[in-house]
Amino acid sequence: MNPISDRDQSQPLAPGLYLVATPIGNLEDITLRALRILQSVDRIACEDTRQTQKLLNHFDIHTPTVSYHMHNEGSRAEELAAELKQGARIAVVSDAGTPGIADPGGQLAAAAIAAGVAVFPIPGANAAISALIASGLPADLFTFHGFLPAKAGQRKTALEEIPRTGATHIFYEAPHRILDTLADIETVFGPTQPIVIARELTKLHEEFLRGPVNELRTQLSARPSIRGEIVLLLAPKPADEAAPQQSQSIAAQVATLIKNEALTEKEALKRVAKDRGIGKSEAYRELQREQNRLR
Ligand code: SAM
Repeated sequence: MNPISDRDQSQPLAPGLYLVATPIGNLEDITLRALRILQSVDRIACEDTRQTQKLLNHFDIHTPTVSYHMHNEGSRAEELAAELKQGARIAVVSDAGTPGIADPGGQLAAAAIAAGVAVFPIPGANAAISALIASGLPADLFTFHGFLPAKAGQRKTALEEIPRTGATHIFYEAPHRILDTLADIETVFGPTQPIVIARELTKLHEEFLRGPVNELRTQLSARPSIRGEIVLLLAPKPADEAAPQQSQSIAAQVATLIKNEALTEKEALKRVAKDRGIGKSEAYRELQREQNRLR
């Protein structure tokens, strides 16, 4: 291990910015180091001071807090960076998990670095990584996308733009949008696309659902309500699936999708383009070339 200043507990905490991970549901998921940092800093910049106060009360920590959220991130970052330059020790926490990951924190880290201030990561809970490691999907190569767009059209476009590499794809999703998102995944990636839904991680009602997207959509639709926090994961496309499709003509592949999955020609062409890792217009041009050769 490479010792850094705050690891020597007999010394006062070094000046700088501390990005402190907090639990995503289970209060035991906070590290001893995180507690010591939260106790020792001059103040704690919180996404929501009331939310963080509950955590601080639980651990009997009395450090002053200041609000720091996406609506004041720019102005507060400047103000806190100025304090840090004067030698302050400031912790940043989000409502849950790791600051900067689909949460405020990143801009302050950048402002501190630009001001020549030391930035220390204090690692801990994170929903995406927790979901990935227990998903059963490959974790050697993955892409984290954060939240998909809330608007239906933009969400579908975002899914269509995801490259079909060998990576597992990870998304955060709201419970009231999950069924619509699963419907879009079914259209874009096909009904048998394997997915994992990780819900309420580290909490009492933690749940993992694993299977083809069409089956999980049916299963969730049958519930009276869908609640809780969700991480959604898409399995990578197996390497051996790509080859036979690419030996087919685009026209044949499009025709198969229209027949078997009741897609429109446009949707089928988009899927073929995605499967081949090419753009939609390139797939269309190739389709036209194939049709011209047959004339
Ligand atoms: N910074 C946090 C982290 O490190 O995971 C993420 C914050 S983001 C604003 C909140 C989203 O993370 C939720 O909408 C949900 O998608 C996911 N999430 C957070 N806690 C979760 C949990 N306990 N179980 C499942 N997903 C969770």
